[in-house]
Amino acid sequence: MQYVSTRGEAPALGFCDMVLSGLAPDGGLYVPETWPTFSQDKIRTLVGKSYHDIAFDVMKPFVEKEISDVDLKALIQKSYAPFRDKDIAPVKKLKNDLYLLELFHGPTLAFKDYALQFLGNLFDYILHQRKQKITILGATSGDTGSAAIEGCRGREAIEIFILHPKGRVSEVQRRQMTTVLDGNVHNIAVEGTFDDCQNLVKDLFNTPDFRKQVNLSAVNSINWVRIMAQVVYYFTAALTVTGGERPVNFSVPTGNFGNIFAAFVAYKMGLPIQNLIVGTNRNDILARYFASGVMKTEDVVPSLSPSMDIQISSNFERLLFEMHGRDGAKVKQMMQAFKDTGTFEMPVGEFGDLFMAYTLGDDGIQNTIAEIQETCGELIDPHTAVGVAAAQHAKIEGKVISLACAHPAKFPDAVKVATGMHPSLPDEMSDLFEREERFDVLGDSAEKLKTYILNVVTA
Ligand SMILES: *Cc1c(COP(=O)(O)O)cnc(C)c1O
Repeated sequence: MQYVSTRGEAPALGFCDMVLSGLAPDGGLYVPETWPTFSQDKIRTLVGKSYHDIAFDVMKPFVEKEISDVDLKALIQKSYAPFRDKDIAPVKKLKNDLYLLELFHGPTLAFKDYALQFLGNLFDYILHQRKQKITILGATSGDTGSAAIEGCRGREAIEIFILHPKGRVSEVQRRQMTTVLDGNVHNIAVEGTFDDCQNLVKDLFNTPDFRKQVNLSAVNSINWVRIMAQVVYYFTAALTVTGGERPVNFSVPTGNFGNIFAAFVAYKMGLPIQNLIVGTNRNDILARYFASGVMKTEDVVPSLSPSMDIQISSNFERLLFEMHGRDGAKVKQMMQAFKDTGTFEMPVGEFGDLFMAYTLGDDGIQNTIAEIQETCGELIDPHTAVGVAAAQHAKIEGKVISLACAHPAKFPDAVKVATGMHPSLPDEMSDLFEREERFDVLGDSAEKLKTYILNVVTA
């Protein structure tokens, strides 16, 4: 499989080159040249298989010719070994036709572990083969950072730098990053918002000399592997709930549009999906887009679901590429306009039959957490609440699988206010608040960040 850029100007790359490169040199995002598809018969053969086996079948067409079957199986085995549930991503029935897909059984309690454990092992595998080293730079609104750090800690061939917006991530989230003291892990608190952090990362990636000098790579969801690994649980969940026979709906709490784009990929691959429900918090740019066809940024407002406090959803560019019939020149034009003016217009058209969107404010989040506790006896985190409320609001036919993107103990304050209960951390993390922290504070400046990284990498 070859990978092409959404902006049409970067040369196509094979899988391993694409993995190391992250963002395409023309500023675009890599996507597979074609979508592999599974027939209904093929999908039927997956029913009843383990998470590992389905992961192998789903990912194989994307890595073909570059990673052998034996090596892919070993990578999957290693990546999901640290997970706490034997089913890896279990599905739980909440009520009637509403199901919860639990994606918080990895090392850092959020769905990002499902992709980043795999990506860390994959980097290691490729770098070892090539005898190379890389510098990973990423921005986090909370959960990506800790999951990336867990995936990369202690690996000789990697220096990892993670930016988080100072004071805008929860204490559990911050400590999950800053208490990892391995020498190759560098946490930086940026005076600004998540979007500022993301722009710094983009700036450095768009500086070719620097990029080359430190062999820069990405782990945020601009890296295709993140999406690819997340496609797997849409298959396992749908197969569990409907046996892959009838179409199913997914409700996805959305920020950067990465997780829900993975659902779109599963749909393109032939998984019977009727609707994809985009849940947003008060930072509702995506919901406004699906209602109006106009993408227009506003200021980021802090909410109870901080991992979704985003106004620029990087992965939307991948959908835009599909909406434009894969015309990179048009995407480039539109993304340039978006950068210059903070807005673009693109009719939702036929994609409106697949996507629905719903916005939930902080009050709604509190109410939903309380309601699910009272009616189903389940504690859910504030991000999960956005998806569950969106699923209930959608009033669509058939079963809806709502994604539980984080463990309630990751956001204990909101859960406590809503239910009066304090969710406890899994045993292996119970001393998190006693561990030593390490991080540096930097202003919102690309030059300072470059110097900081160079000092570490060239030392
Ligand atoms: C990252 C994250 C989201 C948003 O996911 P995207 O892929 O950025 O849309 C939602 N909830 C939680 C808990 C997250 O960590």
